[in-house]
Order: sequence, then C-alpha cells, then structure tokens
Amino acid sequence: MAKIGFIGLGNMGGPMAANLVKAGHEVAVFDLSADAVAQLVSEGASAADSAQAAAADKDCVVTMLPAGQHVEAVYLGDNGLLANLPTETLVLDSSTIAPETARKVAAEASERGITFMDTPVSGGVGGAKAGTLTFICGGDAAGFERAKPILEGMGKNIFHAGDHGAGQVAKICNNMLLAILMSGTCEALSLGVKNGLDPAVLSEIMKQSSGGNWALNVYNPWPGVMDGVPASRDYEGGFLVNLMNKDLGLAFDNAVQNQAAIPMGSLARNLFSLHAVKGNGQLDFSSIQRLFLEDGQD
Ligand code: NAD
Repeated sequence: MAKIGFIGLGNMGGPMAANLVKAGHEVAVFDLSADAVAQLVSEGASAADSAQAAAADKDCVVTMLPAGQHVEAVYLGDNGLLANLPTETLVLDSSTIAPETARKVAAEASERGITFMDTPVSGGVGGAKAGTLTFICGGDAAGFERAKPILEGMGKNIFHAGDHGAGQVAKICNNMLLAILMSGTCEALSLGVKNGLDPAVLSEIMKQSSGGNWALNVYNPWPGVMDGVPASRDYEGGFLVNLMNKDLGLAFDNAVQNQAAIPMGSLARNLFSLHAVKGNGQLDFSSIQRLFLEDGQD
C-alpha cells in the first residue's frame, strides 16, 4: 500500500480520497476548506496544513483542483510542489485542464526527474463515490504502469490515451460530447412534455431506443424522474455549470488552435454560458433543462 498526498477535496476529490483510504492506502489530505479536510479525517485520512505538507514523504501525490490556474499555482514556481518533491514521487493530476497546461507541468516535472501524468476522470460525483470512475491518462508507458494500482483504488476503467496532455484532450472531447448530449436530451424531454407526455415514460422509451445516452441512463435532467441525481434536489451538487463552461471553453480554444470545426460544441457552449449568465453557474450542469422549461413547470 502506498503513502499518498491528496490535494483538492471538493465534490470529486473528497470521495476519491475517501476511496483511497478504503483501499488501504495511507492518505494525507489538504484543501483550502477546513471543513473538507475535517470530513476526510472523519473517514480515516490524516490532515495536512498545506499542499507541501500533504505531499512531503509520499510515494504519490494526487491533485483534484478546479482549473489550470490552480494546478499551475500548486505545482510550479519556487514554492510549488515540483521544486520540493524527491524524484521518486509519482505525481498525478486528475483535474480537467488545458492539454498545454498539463504539458507545461509535465515538462517542469521531467526537468526535475519527476514522473507526472495527466489523469482526468469521467463518471461524475456518483462514480467518484462508488469508485467506478474512468481515468484517462496522458504520459509515458512506465508512468502509466506506476499510476494504475493507485487509480484502481478510485476507478474501474483506466485508459492510456497517449503522451502528456493526451488524457486532457480525450477528456475535453468527452465533455464537449456530454454537453451536446445533455442539451439535446433536455430539448427532447421538453418537446415531449409540451405534447403531454410523462417525462418518466418518455425517458424510458428513449433509453431503450436509438436516442439512449448517459444522461438518460444515469443522470436524468428532468426533476423527479430519477432518484439521487441533482435534478431531483433542485440541481444542487454534482458537476457545476461553471465547470462545464470551463471545459467547453477548453474545447473551443483547442479547436481554434487546431483549426477543427466544432459547430455543435460551440452551440452547447453558448447555451451553457447563457445559462450561467442567468445566475445558474453554481447549479449542476443538468439544470440546463431549465432553459427549456416554462415558468412554474418544474
Ligand atoms: P470543486 O470545486 O467541488 O472542488 C475543488 C476543490 O479544490 C475545492 O474543495 C477547493 O477548495 C479546492 N482547492 C482550490 N484551490 C486549492 C488549492 N490551491 N489548494 C488546495 N485545495 C484547493 O470541483 P470538483 O467538482 O471536485 O472538480 C474538480 C475537477 O474535476 C475540475 O477540474 C472538474 O472540471 C473536474 N471534474 C469534475 C466532475 C464533477 O462531476 N464534478 C467530473 C469530472 C471531472
């Protein structure tokens, strides 16, 4: 079993760190939120009072932070983790960030002889809690083999997408598709309900038909159709609209850099940014359903 430092205990990082404890690892945790740290301590982790302290004397460091600027702030510069870690430490960043930011951190790690992998995840908070996340890794084959036994404590499917940044590229493609599928699912449900259909019945029909997709299977956006999902608790928790907007921005920037056409992704990005501008940034992303509802419908 490994000694692990885990930094970033939010909606995803909290349950991921808890699963590493359950898998038998010795886990030291740090977050800017003292409550988040206290929660993990109650689940068997030990508290660290800084990212440096969490990462000191560990076999592996895992970060699960909101965005690229947080990842750069934690790892880079004279006070960053990379400047202070021994070369044997395996460093895994599971945050969703730009591929070029992952490559920048990987390059600094490599200059210092440290193995860094981008290991973003898919599967949502439910997957994080259940330990069934998909990990999409970028980095060299040797790093991937070292990372696998740690990631298996938090996930079920562990993919090696390619070299540094490739995990982030695959993750950005996936989330752009997710935004498109979620918006489309909401639109179809609204059309059916406008015609007098029961959203639960329509969901079941589409699930078993050619429109079936992940949103219908495990994350139904219509309030009350599915238990235990954000739509059934006023869209609280889960994967925030602001984070989906960040990911769609990453996809858009990447498409511009690579001269790729993403008309559907661009439309989804516009829908989610409109939704955020209307004050919904802190709600779960399935709340995009509300764009298609009339006042008083939910
Ligand atoms: P979150 O906002 O719930 O959690 C982020 C945590 O990082 C917070 O607890 C915050 O206090 C902490 N933090 C920020 N800066 C820090 C620092 N310098 N040092 C220590 N802690 C710091 O976000 P989340 O939903 O857990 O998402 C984390 C990452 O995972 C994001 O990049 C997101 O895009 C990605 N992701 C989220 C989901 C999801 O369903 N929520 C799914 C897949 C991927």
